Amino acid sequence: MTPGTRLLVSAQGERYRFDPGSLSLELMLTGGPGPYQRYEIAHAPADLAEWFTGSRLALTAPLTDVRIRPAELTALKELRNALYQVVPALAHGEPPSAEALASLNDATEASPRPVIDPETRRLAWAPPITGRQLLGAVARDAIELVSGRRSGRVRECSADDCQLLFFDTSRSGNRRWCSMERCGNRAKIRAYRARAETS
Ligand SMILES: [Zn+2]
Repeated sequence: MTPGTRLLVSAQGERYRFDPGSLSLELMLTGGPGPYQRYEIAHAPADLAEWFTGSRLALTAPLTDVRIRPAELTALKELRNALYQVVPALAHGEPPSAEALASLNDATEASPRPVIDPETRRLAWAPPITGRQLLGAVARDAIELVSGRRSGRVRECSADDCQLLFFDTSRSGNRRWCSMERCGNRAKIRAYRARAETS
């Protein structure tokens, strides 16, 4: 699986790939407050450390030696809660709460450090990658989503029964579905049936 793309399972047990297009939106797939608690995967620090090795940070360089302390896991989950206040608001064209934005600001201090191997000129993340650095990477990404010229590209899947949030990185900027395999395909089938019925 390409780093940053996640395998999800629908309520009907159907598996499909979902690329949320951005690190902070990707983290929202690991669980969240209220009804999202049932999707929780970050029960222990090691769970989230493992999860980050498959995140889009690995598109730059592999993540080896990820170390998340219990307090950092808590901080990452608090940041994730703040994302649930900020990102849906963005997707619906509403102003995000100032309090939630302030907690993004408070989290940007550290960041994974890219280093180059002088011999091979290969890029790597300087080990160890700490929970604090990962917190910073997610918060920086979210801040860019909020402030960037492309904040209008944060969207919710167009299917009525799907709340997945993504950042549209397509050149055309007209991505509508979380996944063509899932909601895009269901819409195609519906359109086909509608046509068949009227003809
Ligand atoms: Zn969808």
